[in-house]
Amino acid sequence: MQPIEAHKPDLTLATDLTNQQKSEARQQCFYGCVFCGSPVFRYYFPPDSLSAVLICPLHAKQLRSALLSASTLVERMKQPFNQQRINKPGFSFDPNRRVQVSVGMNTVYADFVPGGGEQYCIWVNGQELFTLHSESGWLCFSFVLSDTTGQVLIRVEKGELQLSPDQWEYSYEVNTLKIRDQQRRLQFTAQLCNDRVLLTKGNFIDSFGDGFVVEGNRVIAMLDGQKGGQYMHRIEPGRYKGGWALFNKIRHPELVMPGNFAFVCAAKRKYPGTER
Ligand SMILES: [Zn+2]
Repeated sequence: MQPIEAHKPDLTLATDLTNQQKSEARQQCFYGCVFCGSPVFRYYFPPDSLSAVLICPLHAKQLRSALLSASTLVERMKQPFNQQRINKPGFSFDPNRRVQVSVGMNTVYADFVPGGGEQYCIWVNGQELFTLHSESGWLCFSFVLSDTTGQVLIRVEKGELQLSPDQWEYSYEVNTLKIRDQQRRLQFTAQLCNDRVLLTKGNFIDSFGDGFVVEGNRVIAMLDGQKGGQYMHRIEPGRYKGGWALFNKIRHPELVMPGNFAFVCAAKRKYPGTER
């Protein structure tokens, strides 16, 4: 592994961590960037340290440009941002809580067992495009963001930013993550807390044009690149394994859904089955 820039704080991207090492780093950093708590981050090795630390794209950039000093990083590693708010609303530790999951102002609830587990918020033809993971009372997030045609732009795996276009901007303030493209257009917005997830912007479409567009208070189902039905102001209080599923049985007759979903959009013949 090479230092990213020789003259700046010796921050090294940790590219070969095992899942166990990543899990330990998440726990030590309280599941967020040590500077701002962002639940989307990369793993780095700080100078003279063998344990990895979670840093979001914005604060990694500031460390590399020496806007943030190496000593500030050492301080933050001793007291990560999220450690200071574990008793604040939205972040308190409760492994038995019900998590409110709102996508385009449509609401479902995620129930986790104390041992952890997953909730599939958005599932499209076998791909998990937005998933919550419960770990030690915290939530971490996996998602795959696409453009309007279904080309993958961003891949996040349990918080780790694995793929992103260069020059895209990530900001996380209080509890809201916003991602903007090079033209500063908003591509993703979500409140991400331990007891509430509120997704209001993003494209989650597969390479065939099937999926969901989340826009403000609406979730729009897409089939073969065409707009289908949309969901607005719906609440499903029951217990479900997932929120929104799009299942194109014509194209994927062999697939089985991984549990019950609150909202299912299933194509069986020619574009039927979409809900309002
Ligand atoms: Zn940060």
